[in-house]
Amino acid sequence: DVDQEACSLGRVLRVQGLVSVVQLADGTLRNCATRRLLKTLSTDQRHVVAAGDRVWVRPEGEDEGFIERVEPRRGVISRTSRGRRHVIVTNVDQVLIVASAAEPRVKPNLIDRYLIAAEKYGIEPVICINKIDLIDPAELQPLVGVYAQLGYRVLLISATTGQGMERLRAILAGRQSAVAGQSGVGKSSLLNSLEPSLGLRVQTVSTDNDKGRHTTTTAEMIPLASGGYVVDTPGIRQFQLWDVIEEELDGFFRELRPYVSQCRYPDCTHDHEEPCAVKDAVADGYINLRRYESYLQMLQS
Ligand code: GDP
Ligand code: ZN
Repeated sequence: DVDQEACSLGRVLRVQGLVSVVQLADGTLRNCATRRLLKTLSTDQRHVVAAGDRVWVRPEGEDEGFIERVEPRRGVISRTSRGRRHVIVTNVDQVLIVASAAEPRVKPNLIDRYLIAAEKYGIEPVICINKIDLIDPAELQPLVGVYAQLGYRVLLISATTGQGMERLRAILAGRQSAVAGQSGVGKSSLLNSLEPSLGLRVQTVSTDNDKGRHTTTTAEMIPLASGGYVVDTPGIRQFQLWDVIEEELDGFFRELRPYVSQCRYPDCTHDHEEPCAVKDAVADGYINLRRYESYLQMLQS
């Protein structure tokens, strides 16, 4: 077990090859190696430690150390490719789903895809609709209303005017947040306006990726002055329905759940089957038609 006298608890900000950059509780950074013993515990040695991990570090010299133990994880975002599971980031408390009111215009079905991925991973989603300065916010009320009724938090914000940024700042404080959303919606602008000192860091991350290094798997936790962390990487921006299988999709639509068990056929896909409790609920107005169509679209893809 870990000698807690000799070790300190820290958080892995990023993993570069065999070295993990760990921020200790006092804020200092150490380049850490992972003990051989620890590595043998995992079949996938490359990913025994990932960004976001809480680890016990035995300090060594001025700014180095050894990772002695990894604390149990929750909120893991991973991607399976060619039969291997790649952990992108761990201990994520919430995912900011960033969309824009205009340029590009809001795409509700894309928001739904991110929501379903968040439900799959068991990570709390927060919907942020940016560029609210470009439209009359009243136009978004019907859409916002549907999400609010489902219990999702929705923020209307503008990185340009600063509208809604105080609420966003409060939501990020003290928590670990991943940022998702299609290109051009203003994710980098939001992070930069939250904390001007982030500007450089955000840019460093994208420069690295432009060189094509680990484009989909490396992640960097960026510490916020408020005590929280944000992680923004191409691998999460496209945070998608990587591992969602058809049979479980209906369970991730919150409003479908109460009806699914009432369908006549246990494997009902709520598409062509008759009768179907979900389709009845849509017809009776208990389930929003656009959300149901969004479900059908995901089912088909
Ligand atoms: P990303 O690809 O999601 O990181 O998006 P960027 O942060 O690069 O922003 C894309 C474009 O949208 C840039 O030209 C920004 O200046 C612009 N933009 C970002 N936020 C806002 C906003 O709140 N209002 C307006 N009008 N433009 C914005
Ligand atoms: Zn059904």
